[in-house]
Amino acid sequence: MKDTALRPRDLEEALILRRETGGILYAGGTDLMVRSARWGTVNADADRPVMFIGHLEELRQVATEPGFLVIGTCATLSSLRGHPDVPVLLKRIIGSMASPAVRNMATMGGNVCNASPAGDTIPYLLAMNGTVLCASTDDQKEIPVNEFISGPGTTILAPDEIVTGFRIPRYQFDYEFHKKVAARRANALTKASIVGLAQKIDDRLVDLRLAFGAVGPKVVRSLDCEQALLDSLSGTNGRYEREEILAAVLRRYARILSPIDDQRSTADYRGTVAIRLARHFLKEVLGLSYQP
Ligand SMILES: Cc1cc2nc3c(=O)[nH]c(=O)nc-3n(C[C@H](O)[C@H](O)[C@H](O)COP(=O)(O)OP(=O)(O)OC[C@H]3O[C@@H](n4cnc5c(N)ncnc54)[C@H](O)[C@@H]3O)c2cc1C
Repeated sequence: MKDTALRPRDLEEALILRRETGGILYAGGTDLMVRSARWGTVNADADRPVMFIGHLEELRQVATEPGFLVIGTCATLSSLRGHPDVPVLLKRIIGSMASPAVRNMATMGGNVCNASPAGDTIPYLLAMNGTVLCASTDDQKEIPVNEFISGPGTTILAPDEIVTGFRIPRYQFDYEFHKKVAARRANALTKASIVGLAQKIDDRLVDLRLAFGAVGPKVVRSLDCEQALLDSLSGTNGRYEREEILAAVLRRYARILSPIDDQRSTADYRGTVAIRLARHFLKEVLGLSYQP
């Protein structure tokens, strides 16, 4: 009888087994088990065994490199939340995910490889220009997260590859914003979310990034909208002018978001909330917030 489950000793063996069997990678199992048609077991695929990787030490590490943080794919959400080198913004995002029990099993790699537009760590990675590290027995690749995720639930990972981790620039922005809207504060999947980052030099906006979760087939980030806003603000703008610029960029974002109706929310609600979250963040960045 063929093996239905594999437990490699180390990454080297995992890569060999992945090449030979195309095994279904099981990290924390918190997405895979829910997806299973027969609750209580991973959906048996006729030809492919399940391969456990969550225990592999090489994949659980968090390391710093000059200018970068490298997060191992199998680092659990709980371990990241407690790690001294993990940025506060990512910790806050993780704190909005699932529950402590689920976070003890769930991994960052599983969240990204599941490729849900509602996956909560993905807007962060996208806004930070994070990359996905992939390995096979004879190659290593580094792929921007937006290229790695090809659609809802799909990635460009090859059948012989394993994601080994994520490389994230270490950079502290002047403004760092995250908001997730869900049915309740814990154990609830995202209806709409946003990560906003902005940097100023001498009160001039020099970098702006917005990534929206759950309002399109993939997490949405528009370099065009970001650049248009920076360009419009390049002169000295009065308050009225800034209000106009803000309204114009929000209309532009509204045109590129494509939320859907599903069991968690309606397209209309998602789109409206996402734009309001963006407005809230941008008002603060542009100095347009209400000051009592
Ligand atoms: C009650 C509950 C609440 C939840 N709440 C949230 C939430 O608030 N926000 C949120 O974003 N998610 C949530 N989730 C979903 C899930 O917990 C996360 O997406 C989690 O991070 C998945 O990680 P995992 O290790 O369990 O993935 P797994 O289930 O092990 O894997 C998920 C997918 O990724 C693939 N994969 C895993 N590791 C690799 C790798 N190294 N290389 C290539 N492919 C890989 C697997 O083959 C599978 O297709 C929730 C789930 C549950 C059950």
